[in-house]
Amino acid sequence: MNQLLQPQADVVIIGGGIVGSSIAWHLTEAGCTNVLVLERESHQGKGSTGKSMGGVRAQFSTDVNIQMSLYSIPFYQRFDEVMEHPGGYRPQGYMFLATQQKHLDYLNTNIERQLALGLKTVRRISRQDAAAAVPQLFLDDVIGGTFCSTDGFVDPYSVMTGFWMAAARRGARLLREAEVTGIAKDAAGKISAVETTQGVIATRTVVNAAGAWAAQVAKLAGIDLPVTPLRRMLVPTEPFPKVSQHGPMVVDMSSGFHFRPEGLGLLLAWNDPEETSGFKFAFEPSFIEKVLTHGSYRLPCLEEAEVNPKRCWAGLYEMTPDHHPILGPAPGVPGFFLANGFSGHGVMHSPATGKILADLIIKGSCDLIDTRLLNLERFAEGREIHETAVL
Ligand SMILES: Cc1cc2nc3c(=O)[nH]c(=O)nc-3n(C[C@H](O)[C@H](O)[C@H](O)COP(=O)(O)OP(=O)(O)OC[C@H]3O[C@@H](n4cnc5c(N)ncnc54)[C@H](O)[C@@H]3O)c2cc1C
Repeated sequence: MNQLLQPQADVVIIGGGIVGSSIAWHLTEAGCTNVLVLERESHQGKGSTGKSMGGVRAQFSTDVNIQMSLYSIPFYQRFDEVMEHPGGYRPQGYMFLATQQKHLDYLNTNIERQLALGLKTVRRISRQDAAAAVPQLFLDDVIGGTFCSTDGFVDPYSVMTGFWMAAARRGARLLREAEVTGIAKDAAGKISAVETTQGVIATRTVVNAAGAWAAQVAKLAGIDLPVTPLRRMLVPTEPFPKVSQHGPMVVDMSSGFHFRPEGLGLLLAWNDPEETSGFKFAFEPSFIEKVLTHGSYRLPCLEEAEVNPKRCWAGLYEMTPDHHPILGPAPGVPGFFLANGFSGHGVMHSPATGKILADLIIKGSCDLIDTRLLNLERFAEGREIHETAVL
């Protein structure tokens, strides 16, 4: 056992990525400071957090996702001041482009929902507006779109670090190279301890923040969690001055291709429908041609961009059947909480997740969202909520 480690904590968080770090900070912010984060790697951010595209947006189709963004994006606006650490928030917007009437109808329905819930920075845009924002786009087939100026990007690694360092200043502790191997319960079935490769920690409250590995961790507590890993790949270009570094994330709804400025170049993404679930970490070089084919259609000058395959990377989404996270107490195991299955939105929704989990742990309720909507029981009870705006 590490000598610095008190073998007891009020709350143990399994996983030191952006979600675990946000929960730790929100707990300490609410006065709960005997918090211990367990991370099996030698440093934080080696999971999905360090692989993310860093997009943050409020342009969703379901109330609960919009509400989580309405907490998280203003949070990112003041992140640097509150954490005394840069979060890298850049409000350069997300621009959705529709080429088919069904996609435009979908955007129109969504924008009504977003406005009704209080989002003030989203608007419909014309082809001309899109051309003004990114003149290099091919737009002949675009019939309209939407743009939200407070959407944008953050630096996920820096956000995670900021959350963690601020939590640590208030007394939260982090144990690295501590893999959780068991979760113990007392005779009444309540959480009593966590077993790790560095010893046993007594606790009454455990949070599963293990990202793509969440189902394995849940199994240790006897819970079946429908969270599966799905590989996502990103392709950065070499410096590419033809497109402005101040432009938005552009989402081509006809193919799913999207890109944003990154460094001196662009970061290219596409949701490959042929990808299958599994712990696949290797970047597949044939993906470059796929993403460039879709990309060059919408952004023809991409044909002149250079890509170094060695700079491309792959990471894991943690998917749920309805593409919404699973948050809150696990049924039947008092003291075991879930913060899992973000389905591609864990960076943007990490502030709201931290708030929701801290409230549920400390007060037993949270008024930021209707938390019942995101509980694990929804799958057994047929209450899935489908989000179709998954990128
Ligand atoms: C290519 C890509 C692009 C993405 N783009 C976006 C985006 O634009 N916007 C967005 O919001 N999200 C995006 N995401 C998703 C986002 O990155 C994740 O949802 C988010 O990082 C999840 O954070 P986390 O802390 O839950 O998981 P992670 O960062 O994976 O952290 C989980 C941690 O748990 C640890 N762990 C696991 N098992 C154990 C154990 N038994 N004991 C101890 N520790 C354990 C792991 O080592 C890991 O450090 C993207 C993801 C990828 C891969």
